[in-house]
Amino acid sequence: ATMPPLLSAIANAGRHGVLVKSAVAMERLGEIDTAALDKTGTLTEGTPEVTAVRPHPGSGLGEDALLALAAAAEHPSEHPLARAVVAAARARGLRIAPAEDFTARPGRGVSATVEGRVVTVGRAGEDGAGPDPTAAVRADEVPGTTVLVRVDGTPVGTLTLTDRLRPDAAPAVSALTAVTGTSPVLLTGDNRSAAAQVAADTGITDVRADLLPEDKVDAVRGLQGTGRKVLFAGDGVNDAPALASAHSGVAMGRAGSDLALETADAVVVRDELTAIPAVVRLSRAARRLVV
Ligand code: ADP
Ligand code: MG
Repeated sequence: ATMPPLLSAIANAGRHGVLVKSAVAMERLGEIDTAALDKTGTLTEGTPEVTAVRPHPGSGLGEDALLALAAAAEHPSEHPLARAVVAAARARGLRIAPAEDFTARPGRGVSATVEGRVVTVGRAGEDGAGPDPTAAVRADEVPGTTVLVRVDGTPVGTLTLTDRLRPDAAPAVSALTAVTGTSPVLLTGDNRSAAAQVAADTGITDVRADLLPEDKVDAVRGLQGTGRKVLFAGDGVNDAPALASAHSGVAMGRAGSDLALETADAVVVRDELTAIPAVVRLSRAARRLVV
């Protein structure tokens, strides 16, 4: 028997390195008219590096002590920022103390007890603590992602992390614009300046920053409420709710979280963003054969 067009399209998508989970998922990919993209790990490689360690004057901590504390709290986390903090501490040969009572809050940060003190690493302004009044640099005034370290609630310093754009991020944005007829939207939990930099480098003009996971859902629903059919691409645990609410949810496979991969309708297994518009085209070609 000859293969039904949607199944052939799934096989072809596989050749592009995209695992499409069902015939329905394949069909929906061709129906989208708007793309919404996560930043960290989706448009960027998701392997950031620590580029600055700044203890607050008066914290009594040096750079190494600040980095070691943050690494201890981040150690149990699988978030790309957490991995980068731990790698930076290891690169300096620092001892990473064991952490207890670890909790991760998607889109916000982590908290753990380290040697009897509660250490949190995450964006400023969380836990009702308000923005960091003692900060020498504000998170949105430096390039990259700046996170605040607190010990027992007191801000003790900041870490800045920078991530590289994927080499095919700009071509993928152009191809998605061509295939959907609309310019993609950037949805990120990161700060405004980090988001603006990536938007400028890829040609995106609709940028929404400082979003919590539920804000990404609201953004997707908002677009869909105006009658659009949205493809959302993301990689993190924080992206899972938006992946579920989009007409088509696509997860980045290599560094993607298990929850994102399970929730998505399709997974980009080979790390190529341009495979997404290619698969949208495959779906449309198959639909022309079906109807
Ligand atoms: P994105 O939407 O860009 O993929 P996330 O929603 O995962 O990013 O994270 C949003 C913000 O929350 C980060 O930029 C950072 O400020 C903070 N954050 C989240 N997880 C962590 C973590 N493990 N350590 C430090 N900060 C974190
Ligand atoms: Mg992400």
